[in-house]
Amino acid sequence: MNYQQVLDEIFLNIRSLENVGKVASYIPELSKVNPDQFGVCLKTLDGIECGVGDWKTKFSIQSICKVLTLSYAYKILGDKIWERVGVEPSGNPFNSLVQLETDNGIPRNPLINAGAMVICDMLLSQSKNAQTEFIDFVRKISNNPNIDYSYKTAQSEKSIGYRNIALCNFIKSFGNIRNEPIDVLEFYFHICSIEMSCQELVQTFMFLVSDVINSKDNQSILEEKKAVRVNAIMQTCGFYDESGEFSFRVGLPGKSGVGGGIVALHPEKYCIAVWSPRLNAKGNSFRGMKFLESFTSQTNTNIF
Ligand code: GLN
Repeated sequence: MNYQQVLDEIFLNIRSLENVGKVASYIPELSKVNPDQFGVCLKTLDGIECGVGDWKTKFSIQSICKVLTLSYAYKILGDKIWERVGVEPSGNPFNSLVQLETDNGIPRNPLINAGAMVICDMLLSQSKNAQTEFIDFVRKISNNPNIDYSYKTAQSEKSIGYRNIALCNFIKSFGNIRNEPIDVLEFYFHICSIEMSCQELVQTFMFLVSDVINSKDNQSILEEKKAVRVNAIMQTCGFYDESGEFSFRVGLPGKSGVGGGIVALHPEKYCIAVWSPRLNAKGNSFRGMKFLESFTSQTNTNIF
């Protein structure tokens, strides 16, 4: 399979379509991004890496990082994380408050804002240096010491974070946030502010394609029996109330972010990342969804 050719063809085709959708402007810093940037990177298990467009430009990965906080918490805390967060698709927008009332403050899954905040709270209880330890983990799995938080974006989101502040306090009222909401939110805004290019994203997420052994300590990044469960959650919950649609059209575990990035992976073959900032009505990259649908159709790699 000539993957580079496939990427190039689909890229030109999608780029020729009208680029509809809106950049996430509720976070002031994100509204400054050039909305017509478009990049794709693919990395296969047998070592092929190819890319097209703006695949080396860094962007704000936003909710994509929720897979990384989940993986880190699952790695160090194990199955007890499921006592405080569920594994069911929410069928609601990423920042919704409604189900928490009837679910007694237990978020439906770790990939919506409420669930990611509970995971952040667990990590904060585990260590006084959670923010530093988490970015060290991300640098280790990506094999890239340059990955970092964007303090500017974190600050920008904090300045308008009314809904997330409400969410965190609401969960606290049920006792499912143990630390001070202000500290949980500070950590949460930082994890969302991490910046990566498509190339860095696929490199980082390869641990969910195969059981990558870290060269430094000779240990697996995430045991396979845990990695398959993280993939299952991405498959069912990675795109909020568009998760069914992504499964139906693309057929891969994946995760999106309001920065316009999407990472998706075939558990035995490859990891692919697409970035294009204009979002559809559900908050997922318009071009990213279209690109991945064409990609799995043309390569016949829909996992179903
Ligand atoms: N930081 C964003 C928020 O909480 C993340 C949302 C997203 O990427 N879907 O609103």
